[in-house]
Amino acid sequence: MKHYAKPLNNLISELSKLPGIGGKTAQRLAFHILSQEDKDALALADAIMQAKKNMRYCSICGNLTDIDPCSICNDSTRDHSVICVVESPRDVSAMERIKEFHGLYHVLHGSISPMDGIGPDDINLKQLIIRLQNTDVNEVILATNPNIEGEATAMYTARLIKPSGIKVTRIAHGVPVGGDLEYADEITLSKAMEGRREL
Ligand SMILES: [Zn+2]
Repeated sequence: MKHYAKPLNNLISELSKLPGIGGKTAQRLAFHILSQEDKDALALADAIMQAKKNMRYCSICGNLTDIDPCSICNDSTRDHSVICVVESPRDVSAMERIKEFHGLYHVLHGSISPMDGIGPDDINLKQLIIRLQNTDVNEVILATNPNIEGEATAMYTARLIKPSGIKVTRIAHGVPVGGDLEYADEITLSKAMEGRREL
């Protein structure tokens, strides 16, 4: 892409760093942005800046939020005695879409994966244990992804929580094994929640 002027080259190179955006798509997007009216292109730049500046992780559950604690942790109409443990903020959105879970969440920001050198201390697990010690929780639902890493994380987390006497459940495998929670359809996801079993 050396034949483009530097500012255009920079834009293409930044866009191509985004997931799922290859060189060709990056070029197409860059040309599209340049053809846009100034106000539209600047609105995009501003949206990125505002999101980066104002979004943070909830200090209680680890979900993405613009207020701390997040609106879910702050919601007194939700059931604060049940915590659903997920791997990413996108999984919270997936769960919220099915509108059947009314408890709270805990976002791990990853899963235990010895192959990739990710251990229990590298995810938001310690925070969960501290949270359980300081609050009245009756059930922890482990909704990590149904793949090897997600299962390992669920097993490890269950073992950590068990001594406290809190009920620990795992979502059922309505969610396809090897799949990603965030891509599960609503029916599959609500069936998985219904069929959760105690660990
Ligand atoms: Zn929160």
